[in-house]
Amino acid sequence: MDEKNRVLNDSPGWEEICERCGRCCYEKYQYQGKIFYSDTPCEYLNTTTNHCQIYAQRSEINPGCVRLTPELVTSGVLPSDCPYVTRLSCVKNDE
Ligand code: SF4
Repeated sequence: MDEKNRVLNDSPGWEEICERCGRCCYEKYQYQGKIFYSDTPCEYLNTTTNHCQIYAQRSEINPGCVRLTPELVTSGVLPSDCPYVTRLSCVKNDE
C-alpha cells in the first residue's frame, strides 16, 4: 500500500475531513482536459444544508456516487481547496 492509500484508508476520522460544502456533489464535465462544474446538483443533495440525503446508503442507492480514492482525490475532480486534496497533496509518493 502506498503512502497516499495508507493515509486515505488508515486515518482515523478521514470522513470527518469533509467540510460538507457540497461542491463536489454537482455534475461535472470535462472539456479539453479540464474539469468544469455545472449548476446541477446530485438528486440526493440537500442544497439547503449541502448534505447528502442518502450518505450512509449512497453506494447501494446511487452506484454512480464514486468513492474517494487517492487517484480520484488527486485527479482534479475535486475543488483544489477541498481538504482531501490539500491533505493528500502534502503526502509524498513511495516512489
Ligand atoms: S468538495 Fe471536499 S469538502 Fe466539499 S463536500 Fe466534497 S469532499 Fe467534502
